[in-house]
Amino acid sequence: MSYCLKCGSVANRQIPEGDNRERLICPSCGYIHYENPNNIVGALVTNDRGEILMCKRAIEPRYGLWTLPAGFMENGETLEQGAARETREEACAEIEVGHMLCAVSIPFIAQVYVIFLATLPDGQHAPGPESLETAWVKPADIPWDELAFPVITQALQYWIDGGQPGATWSIDFKSKGKNPPWPPRKQD
Ligand SMILES: [Zn+2]
Repeated sequence: MSYCLKCGSVANRQIPEGDNRERLICPSCGYIHYENPNNIVGALVTNDRGEILMCKRAIEPRYGLWTLPAGFMENGETLEQGAARETREEACAEIEVGHMLCAVSIPFIAQVYVIFLATLPDGQHAPGPESLETAWVKPADIPWDELAFPVITQALQYWIDGGQPGATWSIDFKSKGKNPPWPPRKQD
């Protein structure tokens, strides 16, 4: 049984008038609970040696695995602000956000990842509460078998392969990213 988020009455799944999908609707107050994909914003931060700022996760899921600073976008912020905030929280780093590297749809978990290229003018980083460790990693030293999420693997591979900013692709349920769409589509 589901309850209305506004008034606590028992809510039902039905198709609202003029809509074409079932939503949770409250018969008492009329509140319709829409569920939509979540945006996750992240940063591929590089230095002038071509190394990438990576974080070792101190939280589940994927505790102890490596990732790029990234997390759920908050209300009231832009994509760029979200990427900067996540990098501040996870890597204690004040980045300068550049072009969007890629937007990756993951429909089976209703997520969209938007990853920006970024630099770190003062070079300072340290693990935040959600990270065990932060490090500059050379592309040749990326721990491919210890990456937290398929989308991170793909974004890194795309960038290392010389992929241009502004790419879009998707990860489907069948492959869960194990068979990435290589070579990824590059912008002409
Ligand atoms: Zn209600």
